[in-house]
Amino acid sequence: MSNKETKTDVILIGAGIMSATLGTLLKELVPEWEVKVFEKLETAGEESSNEWNNAGTGHAALCELNYTEQKPDGSVDISKAIKINEQFQLSMQFWSYLVKRKLIHNPKDFIMPLPHMSMVQGEENVAYLKNRFEAMSKNPLFKGMEFSDDHGKLLEWIPLIMEGRSVNEAIAATKIDAGTDVNFGALTRMLFDHLKAKNVDVKYKHSVENINRTSDDAWELKIKNLVSGNIERHKAKFVFIGGGGGSLHLLQKSGIPEGKHIGGFPVSGIFMVCKNKDVIEQQHAKVYGKAKVGAPPMSVPHLDTRFIDNKKSLLFGPFAGFSPKFLKTGSLFDLVTSVKPNNVLTMLAAGAKEMSLTKYLIQQVLLSKEQRMEELREFIPNAKAEDWDLVVAGQRVQVIKDTEAGKGTLQFGTEVITSADGSIAALLGASPGASTAVHVMLEVINKCFPEHVKKWEPKIKEMIPSYGMSLMENPELLHEVKTSTAKTLGLSASEKKELAFS
Ligand SMILES: Cc1cc2nc3c(=O)[nH]c(=O)nc-3n(C[C@H](O)[C@H](O)[C@H](O)COP(=O)(O)OP(=O)(O)OC[C@H]3O[C@@H](n4cnc5c(N)ncnc54)[C@H](O)[C@@H]3O)c2cc1C
Repeated sequence: MSNKETKTDVILIGAGIMSATLGTLLKELVPEWEVKVFEKLETAGEESSNEWNNAGTGHAALCELNYTEQKPDGSVDISKAIKINEQFQLSMQFWSYLVKRKLIHNPKDFIMPLPHMSMVQGEENVAYLKNRFEAMSKNPLFKGMEFSDDHGKLLEWIPLIMEGRSVNEAIAATKIDAGTDVNFGALTRMLFDHLKAKNVDVKYKHSVENINRTSDDAWELKIKNLVSGNIERHKAKFVFIGGGGGSLHLLQKSGIPEGKHIGGFPVSGIFMVCKNKDVIEQQHAKVYGKAKVGAPPMSVPHLDTRFIDNKKSLLFGPFAGFSPKFLKTGSLFDLVTSVKPNNVLTMLAAGAKEMSLTKYLIQQVLLSKEQRMEELREFIPNAKAEDWDLVVAGQRVQVIKDTEAGKGTLQFGTEVITSADGSIAALLGASPGASTAVHVMLEVINKCFPEHVKKWEPKIKEMIPSYGMSLMENPELLHEVKTSTAKTLGLSASEKKELAFS
């Protein structure tokens, strides 16, 4: 056992999209800072950020109905959708900057243009979708959205979904061509290649086991080299815990008071993947439906065209499920060992409140293939079981904390937890997820480096022209940003991408 000890400016734990984004931002802002990354798996982007572990939706709130709730008077509140769209625009601008500067290449390897659609059935839902369309289509952020409840039009848009339906069925959809499919796994790997080229020391097969504050105001990490079995100790002035589902345990180990009274609840995901080329070819959109009553927002069913490895695929899901693991490669003891004296009451309160969710998740785990096919047939009436296989997706650990809404409240968003002195930050939660990585990492930078942010602002604005501004309130800037990012990322109609569909 060696006891090697080193000290650096920044340590990023985990090689997912969040660490990749923070590392890349910091290397642009302060190239001279020394950055190290420790990842317990063999390569980058193998957990939730991997292309097969998430749905690859560039979440801009164009199609996700859980961001646009119906108010009691029937009108639709689009404020959440506006917020998420604005956040996604920050990611688009940053990715564009990286492509323009040739820091990453071939945007078609990580982002593709793809219509985003919402689809609902039943009179009541059709009325809701129409109200939502009316509220959204007036907003410049959602320009270009179309609505139809005409079977002929819908057949043109979504032939696979419309075939085999009665002409009397009340069904409607909205469509917006400005949507995207994002391969977050490919993007994560590209960003790590770029970080290595910038002399960032990325250590794979290194598991962070403990985090302690030292007397010289640094953080000391106890790290196990999983190849040699040696224990290493590395010190840093600033630590980002970007361990995905592994972040809660690491936050607890840091002992910071801000990390207390917080728990985690894992929700797993399963997709159905189509293996019939003819069926795959009939769909060219992401089509989001409405969540079932009692279902958590992250299990809204959707039928997605995906572009993975230059190949068109078709996935349906995710079906939610329950596993006590916090990472797909995690341990069955993750949930139990996350319960500490300081969060046990919070966890128990959540357990009592969320019995129906737990029941729902267990029911989902027990679904047979034929029962899953029945859910798929709500989208594709003629779907055949032999055309579809099951694939296990990533784990999402939802945050449980005490809020004004009560003790042990389950959160469906993302939480950045930082120490009072800004020397350590952790990211918990997974929604809207990778799409808003740039917004969330800018939040980390603002909270942890307030003394530098003023000086860094011109560079941040160079990378992200709309930083600190509302695009909705600046239609000219919105137009400029959208045109420029679409051109650079190859998303505009004139930039049609060549794809070898196989
Ligand atoms: C089913 C599903 C569907 C999703 N769909 C979408 C979508 O359509 N669009 C979207 O934007 N987002 C989506 N998300 C969310 C998105 O995938 C996540 O928000 C994002 O990938 C999280 O990135 P991360 O870097 O925080 O975590 P991860 O990608 O999980 O990376 C964390 C890394 O930390 C490592 N690690 C953990 N503990 C340690 C340790 N102790 N020592 C060293 N390394 C450690 C892990 O091995 C892992 O590589 C989805 C997620 C799931 C599960």
